[in-house]
Amino acid sequence: MKELKAKGACHCGAVEYLARGEVMMNGLCHCPNCTRSKGVSPAHLIALHGENSVEVTQGDELLQTRVLDKFHLVTCKMCHGPVMQYQEGMGFRVVFPVSLDLRRGDAGSDHGADRIPDEWKPQLHLNYENRLFDWDDGLPKFKVFPPDSPLKSDGTPLD
Ligand SMILES: [Zn+2]
Ligand SMILES: [Zn+2]
Repeated sequence: MKELKAKGACHCGAVEYLARGEVMMNGLCHCPNCTRSKGVSPAHLIALHGENSVEVTQGDELLQTRVLDKFHLVTCKMCHGPVMQYQEGMGFRVVFPVSLDLRRGDAGSDHGADRIPDEWKPQLHLNYENRLFDWDDGLPKFKVFPPDSPLKSDGTPLD
Protein backbone atom coordinates (compact mmCIF):
# COMPACT_ATOMS: atom_id res chain seq x y z
CA MET A 1 0.00 0.00 0.00
CA LYS A 2 0.97 3.61 -0.55
CA GLU A 3 3.37 5.19 1.94
CA LEU A 4 3.40 8.79 3.11
CA LYS A 5 6.51 10.52 4.34
CA ALA A 6 6.15 14.25 4.86
CA LYS A 7 7.08 16.94 7.31
CA GLY A 8 4.29 18.92 8.90
CA ALA A 9 3.82 21.91 11.16
CA CYS A 10 1.11 23.69 13.12
CA HIS A 11 -0.12 27.08 11.94
CA CYS A 12 2.51 29.13 13.84
CA GLY A 13 5.32 26.68 13.13
CA ALA A 14 6.33 26.08 16.76
CA VAL A 15 5.37 22.42 16.49
CA GLU A 16 6.96 20.36 13.76
CA TYR A 17 6.50 16.69 13.04
CA LEU A 18 7.23 13.92 10.64
CA ALA A 19 4.28 11.92 9.34
CA ARG A 20 5.38 8.55 8.05
CA GLY A 21 3.47 5.38 7.40
CA GLU A 22 1.19 3.30 5.29
CA VAL A 23 -1.84 5.24 4.09
CA MET A 24 -5.10 3.76 5.33
CA MET A 25 -7.32 6.44 3.86
CA ASN A 26 -7.00 9.75 2.02
CA GLY A 27 -10.35 11.45 1.99
CA LEU A 28 -12.68 14.33 2.68
CA CYS A 29 -14.48 13.82 5.98
CA HIS A 30 -17.76 15.52 6.84
CA CYS A 31 -18.12 14.22 10.42
CA PRO A 32 -18.52 16.72 13.30
CA ASN A 33 -15.24 15.69 14.97
CA CYS A 34 -13.24 16.49 11.86
CA THR A 35 -15.13 19.59 10.75
CA ARG A 36 -16.43 21.44 13.81
CA SER A 37 -13.14 21.13 15.68
CA LYS A 38 -11.46 23.06 12.87
CA GLY A 39 -14.22 25.17 11.37
CA VAL A 40 -14.02 23.55 7.94
CA SER A 41 -16.29 21.31 5.92
CA PRO A 42 -15.18 18.85 4.78
CA ALA A 43 -11.74 18.22 6.28
CA HIS A 44 -9.08 16.70 4.02
CA LEU A 45 -7.34 14.04 6.05
CA ILE A 46 -4.91 11.20 5.62
CA ALA A 47 -5.07 8.30 8.07
CA LEU A 48 -1.81 6.43 8.64
CA HIS A 49 -1.46 2.95 10.09
CA GLY A 50 0.34 2.80 13.42
CA GLU A 51 0.24 4.77 16.65
CA ASN A 52 3.80 5.97 16.04
CA SER A 53 3.23 7.24 12.52
CA VAL A 54 3.47 10.87 13.67
CA GLU A 55 6.75 11.80 15.32
CA VAL A 56 6.93 15.26 16.85
CA THR A 57 10.36 16.69 16.06
CA GLN A 58 9.97 20.15 17.62
CA GLY A 59 7.72 21.75 20.23
CA ASP A 60 6.72 18.58 22.09
CA GLU A 61 6.11 20.68 25.22
CA LEU A 62 3.56 22.80 23.33
CA LEU A 63 1.22 19.94 22.50
CA GLN A 64 -2.21 19.82 24.05
CA THR A 65 -4.78 17.08 23.57
CA ARG A 66 -8.50 17.57 23.77
CA VAL A 67 -10.45 14.39 24.36
CA LEU A 68 -14.10 14.10 23.42
CA ASP A 69 -15.36 10.58 24.06
CA LYS A 70 -12.72 8.53 22.21
CA PHE A 71 -11.78 11.29 19.77
CA HIS A 72 -8.39 12.86 20.50
CA LEU A 73 -7.41 16.13 18.86
CA VAL A 74 -3.79 17.21 19.32
CA THR A 75 -3.13 20.91 18.78
CA CYS A 76 -0.42 23.51 19.42
CA LYS A 77 -0.88 25.55 22.61
CA MET A 78 0.41 28.68 20.92
CA CYS A 79 -1.75 28.84 17.78
CA HIS A 80 -4.36 26.10 18.45
CA GLY A 81 -3.60 24.73 15.01
CA PRO A 82 -4.19 20.99 14.60
CA VAL A 83 -1.24 18.60 14.63
CA MET A 84 -3.04 15.25 14.44
CA GLN A 85 -6.13 13.42 15.60
CA TYR A 86 -7.08 9.84 16.34
CA GLN A 87 -9.67 7.53 17.83
CA GLU A 88 -8.46 5.92 21.04
CA GLY A 89 -7.35 2.33 20.57
CA MET A 90 -7.86 2.26 16.80
CA GLY A 91 -4.18 2.02 15.87
CA PHE A 92 -3.93 4.92 13.43
CA ARG A 93 -3.08 8.59 13.34
CA VAL A 94 -4.74 11.22 11.16
CA VAL A 95 -2.85 14.15 9.63
CA PHE A 96 -4.01 17.01 7.42
CA PRO A 97 -2.50 17.55 3.96
CA VAL A 98 -2.96 21.33 4.30
CA SER A 99 -0.35 21.23 7.09
CA LEU A 100 2.10 18.93 5.34
CA ASP A 101 5.04 19.78 3.16
CA LEU A 102 3.62 17.79 0.26
CA ARG A 103 3.33 20.85 -1.90
CA ARG A 104 7.01 21.63 -1.68
CA GLY A 105 8.18 18.27 -2.86
CA ASP A 106 9.22 16.91 0.52
CA ALA A 107 7.28 13.74 -0.13
CA GLY A 108 9.63 12.83 -2.96
CA SER A 109 7.93 14.32 -6.00
CA ASP A 110 9.53 17.04 -8.07
CA HIS A 111 6.52 19.28 -8.69
CA GLY A 112 7.18 22.93 -8.05
CA ALA A 113 3.68 24.34 -7.92
CA ASP A 114 1.66 25.43 -4.95
CA ARG A 115 -0.95 22.74 -5.37
CA ILE A 116 -0.98 19.35 -3.81
CA PRO A 117 0.35 16.76 -6.26
CA ASP A 118 -2.29 14.55 -7.93
CA GLU A 119 -1.14 11.49 -5.99
CA TRP A 120 -2.21 13.14 -2.72
CA LYS A 121 -5.58 14.44 -3.81
CA PRO A 122 -8.46 12.97 -1.76
CA GLN A 123 -9.83 9.67 -3.03
CA LEU A 124 -13.32 9.71 -1.49
CA HIS A 125 -15.83 11.39 0.79
CA LEU A 126 -16.66 9.79 4.15
CA ASN A 127 -19.45 10.58 6.58
CA TYR A 128 -21.15 12.15 3.57
CA GLU A 129 -24.46 12.05 5.45
CA ASN A 130 -23.12 15.03 7.46
CA ARG A 131 -22.30 17.22 4.43
CA LEU A 132 -23.41 20.85 4.38
CA PHE A 133 -24.10 20.67 0.66
CA ASP A 134 -23.69 18.30 -2.28
CA TRP A 135 -20.35 17.73 -4.00
CA ASP A 136 -20.33 16.97 -7.73
CA ASP A 137 -16.66 16.12 -7.93
CA GLY A 138 -16.81 12.56 -9.23
CA LEU A 139 -15.26 11.09 -6.06
CA PRO A 140 -16.84 8.03 -4.42
CA LYS A 141 -19.06 8.94 -1.47
CA PHE A 142 -20.00 6.91 1.58
CA LYS A 143 -22.70 7.49 4.16
CA VAL A 144 -20.25 6.74 6.97
CA PHE A 145 -17.09 4.71 6.25
CA PRO A 146 -16.24 2.87 3.06
CA PRO A 147 -17.09 0.40 1.67
CA ASP A 148 -20.61 0.37 3.19
CA SER A 149 -23.52 2.46 1.93
CA PRO A 150 -22.11 4.19 -1.16
CA LEU A 151 -24.08 7.30 -2.06
CA LYS A 152 -24.67 9.51 -5.09
CA SER A 153 -23.69 13.16 -4.79
CA ASP A 154 -27.26 14.07 -3.81
CA GLY A 155 -27.07 11.62 -0.90
CA THR A 156 -29.36 8.92 -2.30
CA PRO A 157 -28.10 5.30 -2.29
CA LEU A 158 -25.92 4.33 -5.25
CA ASP A 159 -27.59 0.94 -5.76
ZN1 LIG B 1 1.46 26.52 16.64
ZN1 LIG C 1 -14.27 12.74 10.44
